[in-house]
Amino acid sequence: MELTRRTLLALTGAMALSGPTPASPGTTRAALFRGVGKPLSVEEIQLDPPGPTEVQVRMAAVGLCHTDLHVLRGERQVAMQPMVLGHEGSGVVEAIGANVRGVAVGDHVALTWLPACGVCRWCRAGLHHRCAESGRILRGPQLDGTYRRRDAAGGDVGSFCLVGAFAERTVVDQASVVVVDRSLPLDVVALSACGVPAGVGAVTNAARVRRGETVVVIGVGGDGMNAVQGARIAGARVVIAVDLQAWKLDAAKSFGATHVIQAGAGVDLPARVRELTDGVGADHAFVCVDPAATLLDASRATAVGGTVVMTGLTPEGVAATPIPPSELLRGQKTLIGSLYGSTSQRTGIPEVLRLYRDGSLRLREMITRTYRLDEINQGYADLAAGRNLRGAVVFS
Ligand SMILES: [Zn+2]
Ligand SMILES: [Zn+2]
Repeated sequence: MELTRRTLLALTGAMALSGPTPASPGTTRAALFRGVGKPLSVEEIQLDPPGPTEVQVRMAAVGLCHTDLHVLRGERQVAMQPMVLGHEGSGVVEAIGANVRGVAVGDHVALTWLPACGVCRWCRAGLHHRCAESGRILRGPQLDGTYRRRDAAGGDVGSFCLVGAFAERTVVDQASVVVVDRSLPLDVVALSACGVPAGVGAVTNAARVRRGETVVVIGVGGDGMNAVQGARIAGARVVIAVDLQAWKLDAAKSFGATHVIQAGAGVDLPARVRELTDGVGADHAFVCVDPAATLLDASRATAVGGTVVMTGLTPEGVAATPIPPSELLRGQKTLIGSLYGSTSQRTGIPEVLRLYRDGSLRLREMITRTYRLDEINQGYADLAAGRNLRGAVVFS
């Protein structure tokens, strides 16, 4: 009974949560993708109340991640437009549907870009990062196939990755949220929903880096900087950060890199890595940017028996890996594609937040700049220009 009353209050925007209430019940401002090459369009849209298995979330923060940039550039295609982008967010639950379990009004949540349906073969085994519903994340409608958003013209509006986080409010299935401790800062929680578990987990779960091993991380942005941090936490003896930009390499040293290599024309990356690893190459390489351009160097920078873990997205037009099969065989290499840190988002997100709380992971320092929703295109321009480790849209 109490829950019902609170839910109704939340739906009318009257609940005593801090921050602004919507302009009128059932509307929200959101950043819409309206076509390749166009800036995101910040508009007021209609937002329906949550369905039976859904929750309404008042957003607190959303990270600016390369994945959305791939959509804006047409390198990843989504099935419809307009669509609210944004996939690594945090917020406070304002309302819940009748059949929601384990999520309550007032809970703080991370929005996850892969759903965890809870009933497929993978979810039942605790492997939510392999959920059978993951094929729906680029389509647009809710998990149940219907829509909760409409634009001013009355047309359906999709939600990217089933979350549509670039909005003051969103309605998502309970499969797309992970409840987190309320004492954690919500900007940090937003980061914990994508690049942080991806980078840390690539090291600890995919490669299983052990104390004393050697590591090279190619591309020290959102995923890569956290792979550097993960390697430091795992006790790697040598952690080599590679990037095009000197300022990111300077930052990588403060996150745990023992050596840095500035990539660029004329730089023989495998040779440079061998110089730093007793002449044999690294035990593990992490490809966190542009795999089409970096996978071959990454593989050649590893020692015999080495592991190459790929976390970065490749444009859809790239159809083959550049590593010759004979090199994989003769080098006895292991090539791993790693999503969400190769572990359940339901355990991986709380785990990185635990590492943040005990001081092992530096996450606040990852946020270079924050933006208001209206400044989101500036945020993506800064991301494209390499000016941020992580930018974030924050909602007051
Ligand atoms: Zn992301
Ligand atoms: Zn599932």
